Amino acid sequence: MKKIAAVERMKAAAGEIKTQGRILGFVPTMGYLHEGHLSLVRESLKKADATVVSIFVNPLQFGPREDFRRYPRDPERDEALLEEAGVDILFHPADLDMVPDGFRTTVEVSGLQDKLCGRSRPGHFKGVATVVLKLFNIVRPDYAFFGQKDAQQAIILRRMTKDLDLDTKIEIRPIVREEDGLALSSRNMYLNPEERRAALVLFRSLKKAHAMWAAGEREAGSIRGEMLRLIGSEPLARVDYVEIVDSDTLETVDRINGKTLVAVAVLIGNTRLIDNTILGGKGEHP
Ligand code: AMP
Repeated sequence: MKKIAAVERMKAAAGEIKTQGRILGFVPTMGYLHEGHLSLVRESLKKADATVVSIFVNPLQFGPREDFRRYPRDPERDEALLEEAGVDILFHPADLDMVPDGFRTTVEVSGLQDKLCGRSRPGHFKGVATVVLKLFNIVRPDYAFFGQKDAQQAIILRRMTKDLDLDTKIEIRPIVREEDGLALSSRNMYLNPEERRAALVLFRSLKKAHAMWAAGEREAGSIRGEMLRLIGSEPLARVDYVEIVDSDTLETVDRINGKTLVAVAVLIGNTRLIDNTILGGKGEHP
C-alpha cells in the first residue's frame, strides 16, 4: 500500500491509475476505522481495479464547540487495517494542505444542508461538501463509497455530484451494526458502559418504527410519537431530533407512502449519536 500525504502526489498517482484505464474506487473517512468503514473498503475493492482510502479529520465540518480536537485518532492501527484489506493508496493529507491559510471557497447544498443534523450542527454539511468536492478533484474517482449510517450526508453528496456534473458515481452501502443493534461509529468509544447500554435506545426506536409500519401504520405522527416516548423512557438519553422524511428531499411527510427515511439523533450523556432506517423502499430494515 502506498501512503501519500501531499495533494500533488495524490493527484499524480490517481492520474496514473486513470491513464492505465483502471477503474478507481474511493472511500473518504475520518479514520479510527471500524467494520463500517471496512465494509465500504471491501465494496470498493470488489467494484474497482484500484482503491484509495482517505483519512482526514475535516476541521471544516466541526462546530466551534464540537469534538474536533478530541476526535479519536489511531493512524498506525488504521494503516495496518487498510494494508491488510489490500487497499492500494492511503491518502492522509495535512490540515494545512487541505485548508490552507486564505482558503475562502465553500460548497453549499441549500435546503438539504439545513435540515435534520444541519439544524443542530450549522455549517456541518457545508464543511462536508466542500472537503468532499476537494477530495474528488484530487482523486477523481469513478466510484466513491459512503455509508447509509450518515443518510443526510449521502443524500447531499448525491445532489452535489448531480448538480455539479461530477463524473464520480456515489455508492451508498448499508449500516454495519454491533450484534445488539448499535450502529458502529468512531464516537461509540466516548460511551461508558452505562451509556453504551443506553445507546441501544436509538436502534430500539427504529425497530419500533419498523414494527408499526409493518403492522400497517402509515401515520408518521403516530410512529414519531411512539419513538419519542420510547427514547424519553431512557434516562440517559436526550432527543436532538426524530424525523420522518422523504428520502430524496428530506421534507417531513405526514403519511408514509413512498420510500421514507426515519432518522434519529440522540445525546447519550455528552455523546451525540445518529441512526436511521428506511421504510417503504427496499432499503435496510432493522
Ligand atoms: P467517518 O469516518 O465517520 O466520516 O465515516 C466515513 C464513512 O464511513 C462515511 O461514508 C460513513 O457513512 C461510513 N460509516 C460510518 N459508520 C458506518 C457504519 N456503521 N456502517 C456503514 N458505514 C459507516
